[in-house]
Amino acid sequence: MSPEMRSAKLTKLCEVEGFDDENELFAAAISDSVCPAICCNPDNPACDYTAEMEPDQDRGWCEMCERGTLVSALVLGGII
Ligand SMILES: [Zn+2]
Repeated sequence: MSPEMRSAKLTKLCEVEGFDDENELFAAAISDSVCPAICCNPDNPACDYTAEMEPDQDRGWCEMCERGTLVSALVLGGII
């Protein structure tokens, strides 16, 4: 995944989840047992399917793409 896509997906995830910036999102995710995840399918960059996943998830199932392309916010941000 390109750094541009990574940061675009993080921004989108903040928007969807209602956080002002990604640091707020990370703080909330770290204090919780689940973490918002977003689809990062390189073959379908327009897919912004999100779901609650395990914080270390990097292959969560995307219902739209029918592929394991969901990546958690903490993985996207390089936190874990
Ligand atoms: Zn998808």
